[in-house]
Amino acid sequence: MIGNYWIGWVWAIIAAPFIGSFLGVLIQRLPAGMPVAWARSACPHCDRRLSAADLFPVASWLLSSGRCRYCATPLGMFYPGIEIAALAVAVWAAAALPDPLLIWAGCLLGWSLLAAATVDSRHLILPDILVLPLIPAGILLHAWIAPGQWTDNLVGALIGFALFAVISLAYRGMRRREGLGLGDAKLLAAAGAWVGWVGLPSVVLLGAIFGLATALVLRMTGRNVGRVTELPFGPALALAFWLVWLYGPLVPA
Ligand SMILES: [Zn+2]
Repeated sequence: MIGNYWIGWVWAIIAAPFIGSFLGVLIQRLPAGMPVAWARSACPHCDRRLSAADLFPVASWLLSSGRCRYCATPLGMFYPGIEIAALAVAVWAAAALPDPLLIWAGCLLGWSLLAAATVDSRHLILPDILVLPLIPAGILLHAWIAPGQWTDNLVGALIGFALFAVISLAYRGMRRREGLGLGDAKLLAAAGAWVGWVGLPSVVLLGAIFGLATALVLRMTGRNVGRVTELPFGPALALAFWLVWLYGPLVPA
């Protein structure tokens, strides 16, 4: 049905930059424990109230050359970056997924992962409020689209959590410090809920490859990445989760 198709992707793509703008506020305020609002309310430098014209995704930023309209302080790439990333998630979901329900589910998953991975890369935490809702959402979605197989998703969530929780506890016991956080275990539980237990090995393998690649790039670009440096694993795991949900496990079952 062509109508459904339009509802599926056109609206997702129109909404995406605005959602991205909201995610930017969420990413800034969640780790700081500040109340989350639907939009930025004031310029952080001059405190002038921002109007709707100041908050139009990407366009406001371009029209004001990336500066505050009132005090001319450079605003940085953070908000337009998140807005463009949220748009990229919607375009990617629309290109990869066949129907409107899945496109919207994919957008919600991708936007949650984008926000969680960004917070993790800045603060080394994966906020529960972004990760935990993905667990029931994944199980319910798959119970809806494949009623006979939702137990695979439930088992996937349990195995995902148990696997990383055990590694995390063992590592903490051996090295007396945290290597893999429980946030990563909750994210792998969410991955299991979406890709099923069959997809979990692919998520773990791809996540490890992306994580190592990130460490290598950081080391080559002169960042001091040693054994003790804490690197966020969330972004690598989130990307692996997204790819395996969209395209299936590395070795099709
Ligand atoms: Zn200002």
